[in-house]
Amino acid sequence: MHKNMKSGGSLNDLNLRAVENYREYLRIPSVHPDINYDDCVAFLLRQADSLQLPVHVHHVRPDKPVVVITWEGTDPIKPSILLNSHMDVVPVFEHEWTYPPFDAHMDEQGNIYARGAQDTKVLGIQYLEAIHRLKLNGQRLSRTVHVSFVPDEEIGGELGMKKYVRSEHFKSLNVGFALDENVSSSTPTFVVAFDEKIKLGLMIKCKERLRKPSCRMSTSVT
Ligand SMILES: [Zn+2]
Repeated sequence: MHKNMKSGGSLNDLNLRAVENYREYLRIPSVHPDINYDDCVAFLLRQADSLQLPVHVHHVRPDKPVVVITWEGTDPIKPSILLNSHMDVVPVFEHEWTYPPFDAHMDEQGNIYARGAQDTKVLGIQYLEAIHRLKLNGQRLSRTVHVSFVPDEEIGGELGMKKYVRSEHFKSLNVGFALDENVSSSTPTFVVAFDEKIKLGLMIKCKERLRKPSCRMSTSVT
């Protein structure tokens, strides 16, 4: 798949670089509450720079940045693709951890331990790495791809995506299709999600009379 890579070293070098980028991101303690996102933003600006891609930091509030890295397609008039992940992670109870949660320790099997490893720092790194490899292969998509990194998803996104989607900058992205948080996979199968893990509401009707004598509920339960 990567036979035509023009630069950037061997596949092994690329994999090592991807893992190190990932671990560097994991070492940033963007943990609730009261997150300072400066180090995340600085990290992502460096990523954009190394990919030679334009980046925009939109401040929903001065301390709530949304980082958007853009890979322009050959037909940028077409509606774009948005690949989203969030920078924040939920709190930790350090005594319950096998390794410190922001060390990004890698054991001999290659397992990496860190808060946010799956939710969702791995996604952001995968998206950037995919673009990196496509670029090295000299490939370009017809649609523009935006990779967004949002704050405060874990506390509802009020000062994150929820506010950002109402901004002029978001409208200017002309998003036609988006992938949001999903689950990472340790197999070649990649599960995609088109929306946050939303509830599926079910109504169950039991038409039989409940048999327990002490229960006064009558014919149907919903
Ligand atoms: Zn999440």
